[in-house]
Amino acid sequence: MIYADYNATTPLDPEVRAAMNEALGATFGNPSSIHSAGQAARRLVDRARAQVAGLIGAAPDEIIFTSGGTEADNLVVLGAAAAPLGDGKGIITSAVEHKAVLDPCAFLQSKGHAVTVLPVDRDGIVDLAALEAAVNTDVALVSLMLANNDTGTIQPVAEAVRAAKTIPVHTDAVQAAGKLPIDVKTLGVSLLSFSSHKIHGPKGAGALFVRYGTRLAPLSHGGRQERTLRPGTENVPAIVGFGKACELACTRLEADARRVAESRDHFEAQILARLAGTRVNGGSHRLPNTSNIAFAGLDGEAITINLDMLGMAVSTGAACNSADKTPSHVLVAMGQSAAEARSSVRFSFGRDTSDEEIDRAIHWVVQAVNLLRGVRL
Ligand code: PLP
Repeated sequence: MIYADYNATTPLDPEVRAAMNEALGATFGNPSSIHSAGQAARRLVDRARAQVAGLIGAAPDEIIFTSGGTEADNLVVLGAAAAPLGDGKGIITSAVEHKAVLDPCAFLQSKGHAVTVLPVDRDGIVDLAALEAAVNTDVALVSLMLANNDTGTIQPVAEAVRAAKTIPVHTDAVQAAGKLPIDVKTLGVSLLSFSSHKIHGPKGAGALFVRYGTRLAPLSHGGRQERTLRPGTENVPAIVGFGKACELACTRLEADARRVAESRDHFEAQILARLAGTRVNGGSHRLPNTSNIAFAGLDGEAITINLDMLGMAVSTGAACNSADKTPSHVLVAMGQSAAEARSSVRFSFGRDTSDEEIDRAIHWVVQAVNLLRGVRL
């Protein structure tokens, strides 16, 4: 099988698995217990917190562990609106955010909060002038993703922070973490979410960076863990795995990004050259691993199914929306018609994708598309 759906999830790194085994075995204590068994588990969580903070240039105390990206995003959106200063205030976000941001925003809107959804251009880049115009003292939060899951488009987050003036800015970095170098100080964001299973860690762990002094209210209550922002006994094995995955991502990021970008560029160039009516979505400033391609006149889902039968895993967009027949809201927000948006397939490669797999992927995509177009081979 060729796995080309790394934006949906990634395989567990063997070194991550080995680190988790320790926490799944002897170190089973509750990190909140004061006895030695508990404190041994606490040390594992502390080490992971430092590793996770290291990936984004944060201080360990600024990391709140969650169950994943969705929970981190919800904690930000709902927690910022409910925090003492944000109570009843509005939110600014963009039309291309993941549903983990857009859906809690819609929930807030149903409760009477003002939600401004910023438009994007044809490449999916947010309109900063619209952001500047929307900024006012009744806004509690700006939430703008660092890189898009469907297209890989990278947003001008540092510029958005400047445009937002004193309003705290959150960035959903679930897709960017481990693929782009991230430094929260350079970006200037107050909040940043990311997820373990997108960077070769286990599912069930994620993190929210909360800059010192940022006001946020918890969504659940019942313990003092994670600065009371996310109470509940920690998922120690998953957190340990997440920590190891972040440490590995730190050391490999540059080399992995360079190699995967070369493979992705070769893949794209070959597909565009060999198949008429193809176009890459998302502009030129994209994640190194992502290629979202429109195949004119075809249904992306049919291509996905045909590729699956050949042995290649790709997707037509976010895995969490795959049961949904509506076209990608990201491509529609970029000005595409429903038919255009439905003709697109997302290919996302990763650190394990070999040159041989890329060549086979090119061959299979050409074969599947020609078959669907009725072209005789
Ligand atoms: N945000 C983005 C941009 C994503 O791509 C995803 C997952 O695909 C999420 C949030 C949700 O993360 P998780 O799967 O860890 O809940």
